[in-house]
Amino acid sequence: MKVKMILPALTEAKSPLFRPIKYSLFPPLGLCTLAAYLSPDDEVSVTDEHVEELKLDDHPDLVVIQAYITSAFRSYKIADHYRRNGSYVVMGGLHVTSLPEEALEHADTIILGPAGDAWPRFLSDFRARRAEKKYVSTIRTLEGKPPIRRDLIKRERYLCPNSIVVSRGCPHRCDFCYKEAFYAGGKSFYTQLVDEALAEIDKLPGKHIYFLDDHLLGNERFANALFDGMVGMGRVFQGASTVQALLKPGLLEKAARAGMRSVFVGFETLDPHNLNEHDKKQNLNRDYSEAIRRVHSCGVMVNGSFVFGMDNDDENVFDRTVEWAVQNSIETATFHIMTPYPSTELYKRMLADNRILHSNWDLYDTRHVVYKPEKICAAALERGYWRAYKDFYSWACMLRSAAQKDDLHAQLRHISYAGGWKKFEPIWDLLIRTRQVTRMLPMLETVLAAYGRFHSQKDAGKTTNHRIAPASS
Ligand code: SF4
Repeated sequence: MKVKMILPALTEAKSPLFRPIKYSLFPPLGLCTLAAYLSPDDEVSVTDEHVEELKLDDHPDLVVIQAYITSAFRSYKIADHYRRNGSYVVMGGLHVTSLPEEALEHADTIILGPAGDAWPRFLSDFRARRAEKKYVSTIRTLEGKPPIRRDLIKRERYLCPNSIVVSRGCPHRCDFCYKEAFYAGGKSFYTQLVDEALAEIDKLPGKHIYFLDDHLLGNERFANALFDGMVGMGRVFQGASTVQALLKPGLLEKAARAGMRSVFVGFETLDPHNLNEHDKKQNLNRDYSEAIRRVHSCGVMVNGSFVFGMDNDDENVFDRTVEWAVQNSIETATFHIMTPYPSTELYKRMLADNRILHSNWDLYDTRHVVYKPEKICAAALERGYWRAYKDFYSWACMLRSAAQKDDLHAQLRHISYAGGWKKFEPIWDLLIRTRQVTRMLPMLETVLAAYGRFHSQKDAGKTTNHRIAPASS
């Protein structure tokens, strides 16, 4: 059987003029995971349209398409094309799970939620020519899954080819997150067996690893055991955590010893009313600044994520947020305009209040306003969003932010890391076009590894324990 797996490009990633590095970071792990369930006789290819051209002149038996909201229309076009030409099309992913009826107009079969046991069931039915229209996973586990088909990853096209997922879902329930709807009907947070995760990590070449888990520190027992097992492996890694988990005594320190060098943190908003409104309870009454101090003291950099346009936000939110991020010496930040994704609680609420402006999914990219904001007009919200990026990554702000750190080495590291992402975009663009992105990986590893090494040396020179006083958790 000939199987073609496709990750269609997000609309915002398709510009022929400019390709930001963020679309060439991670390979399509989900599709390579599904490929592992095919039989050795099957001929399979994986095409990631963010980094390569999609050729449409072939005739596979089975086409598998993973759709996100801003790639939905593109995905449907591709699906329609292949169905017209006689291929069987199966679709899955976040957007398909959000709007199954919409997807079913373009696919022969859809898979809802994490593919889990639904995908092998579909495959077996498809081979027996009795495939159904819809499959939903009922068994939620990562235990004993076949090894991901990493041989299908075109490593040279990604900055972080060693991306890995050791858990699925998240223990929290923020109302703007896809997670609740995506994992409906079963467990919404589960992990690999520690030994299996460590064995997978051990097989990855090189030094750098990017954990794509929604919340790597979400299961404390698992995270502790994972980091224990990683000590001595000589890895440097990046991953995501909540503020709450970063404030837990001991866990962050262990992550840093295992090689954590940067952490993505969803601060979302500095306003407790907004946190309450969106059920981001895990951030409520947490000392954000203390969490950042702890992270920095462990030699780990912070990538903070912020959302603009929540109901208590006014026109001051942009300057206030950027200034706070600079004062707290956050190395990198991502800003988003609040986006009510279909099927989330936020979307349902806004729909009921007649606040959703349209269903042009291409514009649900967190850069456009797709709902009626409360205390700020849509145009000001979009302007403020762009200004926040411009200001945060201005040399003046980067230098001021770096200067908050107490030693020259950390200051230089801050500037080279933040500047590397945002000030050298034309170089990234060239590397992406010439398919040489992975050549920058050693530089990334050097920056990340050196940061941790410096902190280890500093720690070794201290007479007192370097533990940070724990905050409330
Ligand atoms: S913490 Fe993150 S992944 Fe978890 S529910 Fe909230 S937004 Fe979603």
